[in-house]
Amino acid sequence: MKKSTKPILNIEDGCIKCTSNTCNTCGSGITRAENTHLLSRRTFGHTMLAASAGMFLAGCNRSKLAPVAEAVSKTDSAAAAVAGGSQIVTVPKGPILTVLSEFYKMGPGPSSSHTMGPMRITYDFYQRLIKLPEDQLKRATGLKVHLFGSLSATGKGHGTDRASLAGLLGKSPAECPPQFLDDLAANPDKSYKLTLGPKTLDLTLKDIIFDETKGNFHHPNTMTCELLAGTEKIYELEYYSVGGGFIEWKGYQIPEKGQPKYPYEHANELKKYLIDDKIPLGKLLLENELAISGKGEKEIWEFLDQVAEVMIRGVETGLTVESVLPGPIKLQSKAAEMQRNLKNTNKGEAGKAITRVASYGFAMGEENARGHIIVTAPTAGSAGIIPAVLKSLRDLKTPVEKIREGFLAAAAIGYLCKHNATLSGAEGGCQAEVGVGSSMGAAMIAQALGEGPKVVSNAAESALEHHLGMTCDPVAGYVQVPCIERCAYGAVKAWTAYCIASEENPEERRVDLDTTISAMALTAREMNSKYKETSEGGLAVSVVLC
Ligand code: SF4
Repeated sequence: MKKSTKPILNIEDGCIKCTSNTCNTCGSGITRAENTHLLSRRTFGHTMLAASAGMFLAGCNRSKLAPVAEAVSKTDSAAAAVAGGSQIVTVPKGPILTVLSEFYKMGPGPSSSHTMGPMRITYDFYQRLIKLPEDQLKRATGLKVHLFGSLSATGKGHGTDRASLAGLLGKSPAECPPQFLDDLAANPDKSYKLTLGPKTLDLTLKDIIFDETKGNFHHPNTMTCELLAGTEKIYELEYYSVGGGFIEWKGYQIPEKGQPKYPYEHANELKKYLIDDKIPLGKLLLENELAISGKGEKEIWEFLDQVAEVMIRGVETGLTVESVLPGPIKLQSKAAEMQRNLKNTNKGEAGKAITRVASYGFAMGEENARGHIIVTAPTAGSAGIIPAVLKSLRDLKTPVEKIREGFLAAAAIGYLCKHNATLSGAEGGCQAEVGVGSSMGAAMIAQALGEGPKVVSNAAESALEHHLGMTCDPVAGYVQVPCIERCAYGAVKAWTAYCIASEENPEERRVDLDTTISAMALTAREMNSKYKETSEGGLAVSVVLC
């Protein structure tokens, strides 16, 4: 390797950014690996100083900072800061810029990357096709979609082909009726007509091709979509399902965003606006959304109302359909039976309330397993929680404006967890999916029922706290066991957390939301990889399917 030609004048400043393995500019003869070690220790020192300051300011004399300091010592940044008044040590990343449409994504379950992403991709391709000039469309004889990498390797079990065909046929991921997706699955040889301007094409599931599983792909989840005239490709585009339902394509540019009116990275910064400056949470989040997304208020409310309708439709469908869920587990659905039995139950008030909320969670979790349309909140596996909370708030006749505010509060909790920890089971276990979903649900209930910011924050903290350490170990790799029942529990725990937070003195809660999010990040980092969506540990290896 060539020596660095850039002189580094100051070890304290320059070596922080040095990436050379052999550079000896610093004069110490240390390699980058050693250098990193030194930097970590330096970062560790800064961390300890900052943390001590935070403890001092917070009036706390506990000295057990080592695990948290260690958690940040592996970062490259030299700048550690103390968040709010707590002893949490964090590395600033800049303000949260996530917007609602990135967070609440609508599309078919059970996998945001293997079904929702592909359907969003083919629907995007369909929208491009209908804008092509007539003379180009006139020549078309067929359409083909090629699935590569992981989409090809595991797409069959997930239903990637039918989700892809539905989008290609012009079905919007947010509005596709469940019957249409079921029809595609039940009739694999059926031909569907697609009219593109002057041309009508016949498409079947065979037009979705499970192609190479291994290769030098730009992304592990790569797809190509082609409009053909015989063997000639009239129009084609390569796409990537990059996770969480997000999609990109060859030449994709990250859309520019505005800056938030009220920048924050942590709950304690957010609380300052709400408590010190007395800005209502709904107003603050809406104004940030307007500033970052560049959208109008009407568009934002319409989007949230659509999210609510998709969720309610999913719960109501799930409460009426009874079936064995797809896949090798042969899991019998429960939601409809739970709902039916509610009419003649002797469980008393508490039993009835819990059964009702749990049945809503089951209903949407089962819809996800059926591959029907869901909303990520925050993920597909945890998609039953917020719909269950929403349905129970609707049962209470909560006004639509309060429900919208509830959605905003829930999103804010999700943003904080995404920014400061993770939302991915593969990275943090189920605490990051169902734990965050339950925390969002607790905040949504508190906000929609008119509680102040401290109760909203405490409710979210409580729900998350009691999911810390929860592993991701789906049986047979299907988002069914334990995922569906976990959605039911997540919704019930959201209500429990709200009930506790709204009854206690909010000032007396000893654990704040930032602390618990930080604990989740730490737990995620230390969790054995067997428990991170690999199906190599826990329930996944203990349950015997026969
Ligand atoms: S167990 Fe894993 S796949 Fe299932 S909901 Fe939890 S994180 Fe998602």
